[in-house]
Amino acid sequence: MNFTFLHKNYVFNPFKPFAQRYKKSIFDKIFSMRTIANQDFSNRRAVVRVDFNVPIDDKFSVTDSTRIVAAKETIDHILRQGGSCVLISHLGRPEGKDPKLSLKNIVNKVEDILGVSVSFFPDCVGAEAEKATAELGPGSVMLMENLRFYANETAGDLSFAKGLSKLGDCYVNDAFGTAHRAHASTTIMAQFFNEDKFFGRLLEKEVKAIEKVMESGEKPVLAILGGAKVSSKITIIENMLDKIDHLIIGGGMVYTFAKAQGGSVGQSICEEEYCDYALELLEKAKAKGVEVHLPTDVIIADDFSNDANQKVCKVGEIPDNWEGLDAGPDTLKKFEDVVTQSKTILWNGPLGVFEFENFSKGTITLGEHITKSTAAGAFSLVGGGDSVAAVKQFGFEDKMSYISTGGGAMLESLEGKTLPGIVALLE
Ligand code: AMP
Repeated sequence: MNFTFLHKNYVFNPFKPFAQRYKKSIFDKIFSMRTIANQDFSNRRAVVRVDFNVPIDDKFSVTDSTRIVAAKETIDHILRQGGSCVLISHLGRPEGKDPKLSLKNIVNKVEDILGVSVSFFPDCVGAEAEKATAELGPGSVMLMENLRFYANETAGDLSFAKGLSKLGDCYVNDAFGTAHRAHASTTIMAQFFNEDKFFGRLLEKEVKAIEKVMESGEKPVLAILGGAKVSSKITIIENMLDKIDHLIIGGGMVYTFAKAQGGSVGQSICEEEYCDYALELLEKAKAKGVEVHLPTDVIIADDFSNDANQKVCKVGEIPDNWEGLDAGPDTLKKFEDVVTQSKTILWNGPLGVFEFENFSKGTITLGEHITKSTAAGAFSLVGGGDSVAAVKQFGFEDKMSYISTGGGAMLESLEGKTLPGIVALLE
């Protein structure tokens, strides 16, 4: 396939939004051609950028292997077709070579999950690494040492990226969690593979899930934004207003809106400097035809602790020494109606301090409503750090349509940015 027409007068800049250069139809066309489903990997050696940045305890045991499991589909696909896989990843934030952050520590876990033997190579670039990978036969898997043992990785160093590209004859990126970084292995090395660079299954699923919410979701489209602060969600809210029909605001953000509307919020988390912005946002939403749903009642506490005394209170009538820590019963009923009527749902941020069992009811109840809506055919995407943690903690993991694996990458996508790792695969 010849894509030279795309490259005319074009200089690669991973930070320039792809949408500014190419129409969506071209994006869709290249995207579908660059998924692994449409490739033949027999007798090919794929350098697969995975995200094996997993938590490890003092005894070097992997305490959460979600990310390894998430890469399995791609690796299985390549092996099944008679290809081999050279796995490259980072682990932690080492400064130089740190044995505690060696990927050697997770080889056994990777073998268990993949169900095939995995050899380990104690470096990730250089003549020896090239020789070892060149000898891999069909069906083999080799895990290379931590990419971040070299500062060149995060610096996006071109010659380091070129060195990595010599480990295989095609490149598969399946590391959504780092797709927002223009690092050597996530973005820069793609340019050495011409058209032999592909979206792994995980990356493909993440792109499609975001696309479904941001571009092609069935209406009504609902965004539920919770969490702690308005200031950290502004860009997301602004970007979402053009895509949605309903917006639920929950969590600690509520009190900035309540204060802005003249209410008393007691000790609740409140960013007074964003009160004007909160009112502006409500105006903007109105002008764009987006219905905003704010809580009417909340659960207040006389201390920021699980064992604090609690009671139900109207949202703008919180006494001086109390603070709002969860959504109230009327609010949850009201939110239920919106959630169950929506056909596309994005959930980012908990409705309360779910880490305290006694203030987790709002977040759990919301999860139940999204579950119900999903079972009835809605598409639900959960993305961004704490809501994903909550969904897992309360057992909703298999009940949502898609749960994103990438915290920062997901948030940047919701902000409307096209991620450099994704752009690089489309060039
Ligand atoms: P974020 O990373 O912005 O999504 O925020 C997640 C955090 O918001 C969680 O740790 C929650 O405990 C916290 N949070 C949610 N509701 C409240 C609230 N009413 N007051 C204080 N923190 C909250």
